[in-house]
Amino acid sequence: MVAAGALAVSAVTPAPASLLPDLGNDGYRVAAYDLTYDVDPSTTKLPGTAKITAVADRRLSEFRLDYAGGTVAEVQVDGRPAAFHLDKQKLVVDPATAVRGPFLVTVDFTADRAAKVPSVVDATAGWSNDSDGGFVWFGQPDRAHLFFPCNDSVNDKAYFTYHVTVPAGWTAAANGSLVARSDTKSASTFTYASVHPFATQLAQLAVGKYTLVTGTGPNGLPLRSAVPDPAAAKPMLDQLPGFLDWLQQRIGRRFPFETVGLLGAAGPTAQQTWALETQTLPVFQARDLTDPNNAAVVVHELAHQWFGDSAGVADWNDIWLSEGFAVYFDHLYTAEHGGQSLADQFQLAYQRDPEVRAQGITPANPTRPDVMFGLARGFGSLVVYALHEKVGDQVFQRIIDTYLDRYRDGSATSADFIKVATSVGGQDLGPFLHDWLYGSTTPPMPGHPDWTPKPSTSAGGLPGPAPRPGS
Ligand SMILES: [Zn+2]
Repeated sequence: MVAAGALAVSAVTPAPASLLPDLGNDGYRVAAYDLTYDVDPSTTKLPGTAKITAVADRRLSEFRLDYAGGTVAEVQVDGRPAAFHLDKQKLVVDPATAVRGPFLVTVDFTADRAAKVPSVVDATAGWSNDSDGGFVWFGQPDRAHLFFPCNDSVNDKAYFTYHVTVPAGWTAAANGSLVARSDTKSASTFTYASVHPFATQLAQLAVGKYTLVTGTGPNGLPLRSAVPDPAAAKPMLDQLPGFLDWLQQRIGRRFPFETVGLLGAAGPTAQQTWALETQTLPVFQARDLTDPNNAAVVVHELAHQWFGDSAGVADWNDIWLSEGFAVYFDHLYTAEHGGQSLADQFQLAYQRDPEVRAQGITPANPTRPDVMFGLARGFGSLVVYALHEKVGDQVFQRIIDTYLDRYRDGSATSADFIKVATSVGGQDLGPFLHDWLYGSTTPPMPGHPDWTPKPSTSAGGLPGPAPRPGS
């Protein structure tokens, strides 16, 4: 039964074509990034050194890293100078000796925080520069290689260490824990390291006039947030342990990382109006952290730490596994805290679903990179809701438990999720999930026979995305 279901699914669900085929590189995987920056807020030029520990799966006489927007002064491979050149958004490296197995690439580069290299997905992604000279990273989905040379694939997780020197009075905040800090009269050097690996799109480095606020979450989890004004952010910082406790109970699994905290990016001058689930340090507009009414936005990015960060996605087509669950849990939070019921929230999305599918867009095959966050993800959460309505609380919980445990610190495809659901769901959920993830028409909603999708009237163009907190 289980095997037959899995076979049936794979037979009818070929993996869709990659949404961002130019990202990432063949022949190796990265194990660790060690990034050193010397920050001068008075210039957009940011010199850095990237030490990249990688493992080649075959003999490589040449290899590529993703890189754009800056310059490269020198590349070494295993301590020896290597020839290199920039080709579009690739750094092509020609080592003195071919590499095979583990190798170390050292790149001395200067990033340009003012470089205009727009994302094909989101014009606001990339460097977010503050008026005072500070900055924040928005790497998702295809801009991390403006920050440092890397294998900018959503499916290549690595450990990160940062050594960031800033002028006295400035603060650096990054993924992981602050493991060292040294101060002189004129400068401070912050060293952060991550215990769990992550994809480049989830890397975060912010430099600004931040105050680091520490605390303790559920089960003794160390908390550390970075905000420009701790008193102003207090309404949200005070709720952080409660958000985490609620998520642990509803998701059924402990927080997956060694620490977490909120990053409040510069105030009203920041261009971005969105949040991002950068691992262990999700970023928000600082002003959004001053208003307790924005709780669902924070819960959304925290839910991503389980879904999308710890259990990552193997391809951008699988983004519903990240956004769908984060939206599901922020809707659930809203429902349990005085907002619309879960059913009312999802009935709205259900009515709009046919119009999206009529454009050839489905949750696990968005077909266009520009719709994968704004439009497709809301309908991904409808899949999660439909699954819950079909199998009920206990089986739903078993599926989530198994999925999060199996793909912890890894990444999954939609087919992987279907296999998990079928293997622990007590029934072949393949055809059900296939219809929801890939079908050209909206399936009936289990448990809600009265729900009727509005027939598509669209003659081109797409309905705007349902209002969504965060990203
Ligand atoms: Zn999201």
